[in-house]
Amino acid sequence: EALNKILDLKGSIRVFCRIRPFQSTDLRRTREPISAGSDKIVVRSAGIRKEYDFDKVFTQETSQEDVFVEVEPIIRSALDGHNVCILAYGQTGTGKTFTMEGTNDQLGIVPRALEELFRQASQDSSASFNFSMSMLEVYMGSLKDLLAPKPAARAYETFSKCNLNIQTDPSGAVEIEKLTDVPVSDFNQANRWYTRGKRARSTSWTNVNESSSRSHCLTRITIGRSWGPAKGKTEVSKLWMVDLGGSERLLKTGATGQTLEEGKAINLSLSALGDVIAALKRKLRHIPYRNSKLTQILRDSLGDGSKALMLVHISPCEEDVGETTCSLNFAKRVR
Ligand code: ADP
Ligand code: MG
Repeated sequence: EALNKILDLKGSIRVFCRIRPFQSTDLRRTREPISAGSDKIVVRSAGIRKEYDFDKVFTQETSQEDVFVEVEPIIRSALDGHNVCILAYGQTGTGKTFTMEGTNDQLGIVPRALEELFRQASQDSSASFNFSMSMLEVYMGSLKDLLAPKPAARAYETFSKCNLNIQTDPSGAVEIEKLTDVPVSDFNQANRWYTRGKRARSTSWTNVNESSSRSHCLTRITIGRSWGPAKGKTEVSKLWMVDLGGSERLLKTGATGQTLEEGKAINLSLSALGDVIAALKRKLRHIPYRNSKLTQILRDSLGDGSKALMLVHISPCEEDVGETTCSLNFAKRVR
């Protein structure tokens, strides 16, 4: 157990890969460039063969249930007092939102995690729990409070005005000043807030597809746990579930103006995230958390004593193989 404790303190990251199924809009004139094993992806393109190792690979056939089976242990860690971070990475259209949110009949990780947290908490007689929930969107370095009570505070126009401050207290805990944090006492209540946050995210954009690709959407569950004699011991942990902005390199697609600026902001924050995780892996003394809002927010949930899970999403298509290779290289760097 002592050894486990030491290993735990090092912080750990697991990296999974998920391949999206083919869609009617995909061009299928060429042979599929991607093949998958249980923990390996092989890319064959232009006569070059490259292999990438993962902790787990999910193929086109993997159901939402099967994905959640692999995610569930890390949800349990959050209830045990660890800060936890689950991140969906990948090019736009590869299934990040499908994995995190899911659809009405194929629920994703967030609703399943909410259900699981309340289920496990109710079964644990040795501790009592309380939960609260926040949702925010990070866009071009600004933060938007998706559960703010006043609709005006959630509008896109006021994005910069509701720029929330990120503070770190002496114990290292990150605090986002003024961010709405609603107490939730059961799954249905939490799910209603989640639905509300998702709605707040999409209504602020003219084109729903644009929103998800140019911003990060973060859902935070704060878990308070009391145990011991007279439940006198308390501990707080956080579970972050993050639908990251699209990783595609807009610079190369001839994007201009606002689109280009948005693309640059997303690319910068994703590379800052990669830098932080890579520095943690190498146990460097300096971890460059300050380089983006995203890494400032996740600071106490990436690193010592915390657990992270990165789900890297890729397309099965030949025409996406360039972006796919970039995503796989990102995965290689953080794993
Ligand atoms: P992203 O959030 O990465 O831009 P989406 O989650 O919006 O991508 O996925 C793009 C489309 O592909 C959506 O219509 C989504 O429902 C579908 N899709 C993605 N992954 C899967 C999957 N594993 N199974 C079924 N449909 C999927
Ligand atoms: Mg999306």
